[in-house]
Amino acid sequence: MTFRILKHSLLLAVVLVLTACATRVPEPNLGLYKKELKTWYASGDYLTAVAQAQASAPRQIRSTGPQPTLVLDIDETSLSNWEYLNEQEFALNQTTFEKWSAKNNPPAIPATLKLFREARKAGVEVVFISGRRESMRAMTIRQLQAAGYEGWSRLVLRPESDNDPSVIPYKSSARKHLIKEGRTVVLNMGDQESDLAGGAAIHRIKLPNPFYFIP
Ligand SMILES: [Mg+2]
Repeated sequence: MTFRILKHSLLLAVVLVLTACATRVPEPNLGLYKKELKTWYASGDYLTAVAQAQASAPRQIRSTGPQPTLVLDIDETSLSNWEYLNEQEFALNQTTFEKWSAKNNPPAIPATLKLFREARKAGVEVVFISGRRESMRAMTIRQLQAAGYEGWSRLVLRPESDNDPSVIPYKSSARKHLIKEGRTVVLNMGDQESDLAGGAAIHRIKLPNPFYFIP
C-alpha cells in the first residue's frame, strides 16, 4: 500500500514538474516594458539612437550612378508619431492613426530631416515609400510640409487593394520600379526590417524602433 502511494506521489511530482516547464511566463512584463520605453524616450536617448544609426548615411547618399535617389520610409523614420503612440499606449491601429493624423502634424525626426536637406543639396532626389494607405495621401503631404520636408520627388503609398499580410512585396516592388525607371537607389532607410527586405538599394539603414512591429 505504502509503495503504491509513493509511486503515485512520484508520478504526480513528475507531472507537476513537466507542467511547470510548459507554462513558462513570458518576460518582460508589458506594463513595465511600456514604462521603460516612455522613460527611454523622455531621456532623449531615442532620438540620439536614431541619429547614431544613420551616421554613415551622408557618405552613402554620395554613391555614384544615374539619377541618384534616396528612399525614405515615413513613420518613425522621417516623422515621429511619439505623441500618438504615447496616447494610445503603443496600440497602433489604422483607424485611430488615421483619425489622429487628420488633426495632428507629427514633428520631423531631426537627423532624417538633416539628411534629407543634405541629399537635396547634393542633387539626390528623395522618394518616400510608406506603408500608409492611399486614403492618407492629402494628410501625409500636409504633415511632410509642416515638418519641413520640401523638394521631394514622389510619395508612394500602399494601394487600398493590397491586403498582403506583409508590406515587403509592396515596398520592394516600389523600389524595383524606381530602378526600372533608370534611378539608382543610393540608400534605403526605414525603421522596420520589412522596409529593407528584398534589396533593390546600394545601401540600407535600419533605424531603431522598439515601439511596434510591421511584418
Ligand atoms: Mg516606419
